[in-house]
Amino acid sequence: MKMKQFIQKIFGSKSQKPPSGDIPAKPSRKMQTMMEMLSNTREEELTCDEVFALLDQFTELAAQGEDVAHLMPLVQHHLDMCDDCRDEYKVLERIVANVT
Ligand SMILES: [Zn+2]
Repeated sequence: MKMKQFIQKIFGSKSQKPPSGDIPAKPSRKMQTMMEMLSNTREEELTCDEVFALLDQFTELAAQGEDVAHLMPLVQHHLDMCDDCRDEYKVLERIVANVT
């Protein structure tokens, strides 16, 4: 039928073979770089929920004079980017400062 011709046009005459045979074993360098960028972005960015979960610890460490930007760079990065979490951090910071 026409559909079969259409599929063959898209996938080429090798369409009867498993498609995996046509995929290069190694991604191109450009593709690899893009994948790295994507995975880096995912690893380096926390959601607000994740930051909230870590914020207690982060604030306590900061209050103890620890280098939190080095110990928890992802949280620090998020606080630099996100006003909501920064506000929350300021509140916690004040609480911790009053307690200690
Ligand atoms: Zn946030």
